[in-house]
Amino acid sequence: MTPPYDPRTAMNPQTNPPPYQGRLLIDGQWCDAADARRLERRSPAHGQLVAVYAEAGVPDAQRAIGAARQAFDKGPWPLLKGAERARILRHVADGILARRHALARMESLENGKPLAQSLAEIEGAADLWQYAASLARNLHGDSYNTLGAATLALVLREPIGVVGIITPWNFPFLIVSQKLPFALAAGCTAVVKPAEVTSGTTVMLGEILLEAGIPAGVVNILVGQGAVVGEAMVSHPDVDMLSFTGSTAVGKQAVARSAATLKKVALELGGKNPQIVFADCDWEAAVDAAVYGIFFNAGQCCNSGSRILVQDAVADKFAEAVIARSRQVRVGDPFDERTQVGAITTERQLHTILAHVEGARQAGATVALGGARLDRPGLYMEPTVLTGVTRDMAIARQEVFGPVLSMLRFGTLDEAVDLANSTLYGLSAAVWSQDINTCITAARRIEAGTVWVNTFLEGHAELPFGGYRESGIGRELGRFAAEDYTETKTVHLHLGARTDWYLPPA
Ligand code: NAD
Repeated sequence: MTPPYDPRTAMNPQTNPPPYQGRLLIDGQWCDAADARRLERRSPAHGQLVAVYAEAGVPDAQRAIGAARQAFDKGPWPLLKGAERARILRHVADGILARRHALARMESLENGKPLAQSLAEIEGAADLWQYAASLARNLHGDSYNTLGAATLALVLREPIGVVGIITPWNFPFLIVSQKLPFALAAGCTAVVKPAEVTSGTTVMLGEILLEAGIPAGVVNILVGQGAVVGEAMVSHPDVDMLSFTGSTAVGKQAVARSAATLKKVALELGGKNPQIVFADCDWEAAVDAAVYGIFFNAGQCCNSGSRILVQDAVADKFAEAVIARSRQVRVGDPFDERTQVGAITTERQLHTILAHVEGARQAGATVALGGARLDRPGLYMEPTVLTGVTRDMAIARQEVFGPVLSMLRFGTLDEAVDLANSTLYGLSAAVWSQDINTCITAARRIEAGTVWVNTFLEGHAELPFGGYRESGIGRELGRFAAEDYTETKTVHLHLGARTDWYLPPA
């Protein structure tokens, strides 16, 4: 059990353990970088040194990719029975649960999110490993016995090969768990690069993987910079597939850089997700979801409900209710159990958020709540609500990735859908109404990978997740999640004598 929060001792260097020491996992061995470089991470909430890592360079990336290639080409992982791979994935899930408090603590230290939230994410991630284990036993192809007497055809699903996995800093453990277990279930091997500011839980996962019996070289973990290690993975010919979650800008770069090797690319990118509030909504539920949807994870969430579109008749009253509730959001130390919103993960991100707010102010939006850095040590931002936002403003279209809510208005359902679809993104959306016709009509016309109806930010391993347009390519989770990491092969069998193509003249 995690001890209760005590402000006198929390993050006190005298009472906290020394910084976590993370190394690179290559070919089943923990090692330092070839050039002995190191990378430090300080907690955004306290400024305290919490981890020191070996920092990989290009030679380390090449060695990791070589190990994954060898483990794929020589086996045994791709040739194991699905049941055997499933057994190891379940051991990993058990290992995650056994170490969930240490993982949660590391996630909160590096990311700045509340400890209880980290714990829920780690437990959710263990469930994804369990779910992937079930898919490992159910992966199968197809057969055709309907192609005539002389033909039987098999459609085989084969693991695609070496997968490069690159993840962001907002949900480090959850996102690696949306990818890696499914790639492993399919029989692939992997090189994983977490975001350089939140590598801890992914390196700890390496320890759990080894304990669970994953063979050497099947999973290799590199802590390092995107522009160095990430680039090396994206452009390497021995990486057969790239699974990337991060910003749309870097995702586009990755597609361009991977073109020379024509690898398969799966992308989970940004969002500017609308919650559409109709006048006949369940008021309390919609107000709560508006506040939760933007301030959860300090708004550093691809799925964050950063645009609230409210029907004219109730727009002013709804804005007042949202502002009143937002004032009550408890921002503070991630280790204080009363905290709902922790720190912003990096100084750079905090500056980016503040610049978006300033841009909105200059464009004519009203900063109805917050808008500034909190006056306390650590990287904290006030919950911020902007009213009077119109669709032509940059703040209505660009992802802020922070606790900044933009409120817009509409008249009719047609206008609401048009406004919802007016950005380049299409990750998720919500509809709030007690009229089923309104809900279903809007849900069908909104261009987004997920549409919630009368709820927000719920997820299940069974449900596919991903984006339309510039929010990404492909889907994670759901029953096809392991198939995404396969190639399809047709085996066409001819039975009996084959008719010659060359028929001599009669
Ligand atoms: P980012 O794009 O800056 O970084 C993501 C990862 O890419 C990191 O590991 C980084 O080191 C690496 N990277 C950076 N430059 C690279 C390069 N040139 N080549 C290869 N890799 C490189 O994103 P971020 O700031 O870590 O995360 C925030 C973004 O992620 C937001 O836009 C958010 O919407 C998006 N996101 C999307 C989802 C989703 O599922 N759709 C989930 C979480 C986050």
